Parts: sequence; C-alpha cells; structure tokens
Amino acid sequence: MTVIKEEQQPNQIAGHKELGHKSLLQSDALYQYILETSVYPREHESLKELRELTEKHPWNLMATPPDEGQLLGMLLKLINAKNTMEIGVFTGYSLLSTALALPSDGKILAMDVNREYYELGLPVIEKAGVAHKIDFREGPALPLLDVLIKNEKNKGAFDFIYVDADKDNYLNYHKRVIELVKLGGLIGYDNTLWNGSVVAPPDAPLMDYVKYYRDFVMELTKLLHLIQGSRFASFPLVMGYLCRRII
Ligand code: SAM
Ligand code: CA
Repeated sequence: MTVIKEEQQPNQIAGHKELGHKSLLQSDALYQYILETSVYPREHESLKELRELTEKHPWNLMATPPDEGQLLGMLLKLINAKNTMEIGVFTGYSLLSTALALPSDGKILAMDVNREYYELGLPVIEKAGVAHKIDFREGPALPLLDVLIKNEKNKGAFDFIYVDADKDNYLNYHKRVIELVKLGGLIGYDNTLWNGSVVAPPDAPLMDYVKYYRDFVMELTKLLHLIQGSRFASFPLVMGYLCRRII
C-alpha cells in the first residue's frame, strides 16, 4: 500500500468528498442548521476572522471546526484550566479558542512542525489580545515532549492537553502526555473517529491516507478502553476522545 501522509497531499485532502463533512451527523443540512442556530451566533469575532482566513488555505480541512472550538472553550472553563498544551496548531483555531477561554494569566504551550501555519493566524491572535498566553515551539512534538518530561516540574503540571497532530503518533503522544497532565486534568485526542471511517466497510473506497491513519486512531481507542478504570476515565466524543486523569 502506498502510504500518503497528510503533509504530502494537500489538494487531495481539500478535494476529498467520500467522508462527507467534519461532523459525524453526515447530513450537511443538519450540520448547517447547528452552525447557524447555535455556533456562528456565539463565535467570537476573532475566531470568525481566523476561520474565514483559514478557509482560503488549500489545507483548510485540517482546521478545528467552530462547534468543536466552542466545546473546547466550555471544557476549559468548566475545569478552570490555566496551564494547557496543544500539539498540532495549524493556523490556530483551537489555539485561539483555548486562549480566549483561559484567564488572563493562563498559558498554552503550543507545538507544530510548521511555524508558517501558525504565523498565518498570529495577527488575528494578536488583535484578539491573547498572544501573551501562547508559548509557541516549532518542531516535531515528540522530542519536545521528551525534553519537557525530563524536568520534574513539568510532570502533572498541565490542566488540559489537546492532541491534534500526526495521528500515527497518537500512542507515542499518549505515553508522554500522561506524565504531564495533572490529576483531574483532561487530555483531548482529536479525530479518533477519523471522520467516521472507523466503521467504514472493508471495501469502502477510502483514500490511502484515510486508511493509513484510521488504524492508528483505532489502536489508541483500543488502548484507552483497556486502561479505563486505571489512570484515566475516558469518553468517546464527536470531536474525538476525552480522557480525565483519575489516579
Ligand atoms: N488544531 C489545529 C486547528 O485548530 O486548526 C489543526 C491541527 S492540524 C489537523 C495538524 C497539525 O499538526 C498541522 O499543522 C501539522 O503541521 C502539525 N504536525 C504534523 N506532524 C507534527 C509533529 N510530528 N509534531 C508537531 N506538529 C505536527
Ligand atoms: Ca483535528
């Protein structure tokens, strides 16, 4: 099988249609109804600006959708999050959603291999007055996490960690972020239902990159079930998987 990574196939990703839209509702009309009645009316003006800017990007499919951004914001407020981490920033929709939800002295350690994506959205983040909360690190996240773990003061220091980067490393991320999230803190793994492909029949005409990443998100889901009741309480969500550290 030819393995096609997201990074190599922007046009195919932007153009692919076989999985429908980002929501699991699989009904454009219903999703549009939710957006128009409940999501767009309460979307922060800077998030709207960032979403519209990102829509022009050939990889716009990678962006966190606004309904999920609002769920993130609500979760962060519910747990009174202050110190957070994001792995996989792109143009920053989830990052800005997080920054707006945190208190003024809140912090986000944000990582992405590509600084250019981050810089596309940065002027909007600055205009929103929340850039001071963000510590952006460019580079592959695994080695950055390994450095963080070496420092004892980072262990259990994060209230919330959002993982939305290379899905083939989700298990590797999990092994590291469990050391960094605090007791009672949350880890969100985005796209663990991989746009519904986890239940696609074996003969479904999925693109190679969809098939490739599907196996990794399914592996993580299996692991999170196995360890349920041990260190984490885990819940599947439309956005992905939410884990709360309980021990
Ligand atoms: N959360 C973002 C948002 O709200 O728009 C979307 C993130 S996008 C799905 C995935 C991002 O992960 C891309 O920007 C990509 O550059 C980044 N990425 C891919 N592999 C990575 C790695 N090994 N380490 C860090 N970032 C990575
Ligand atoms: Ca995502």
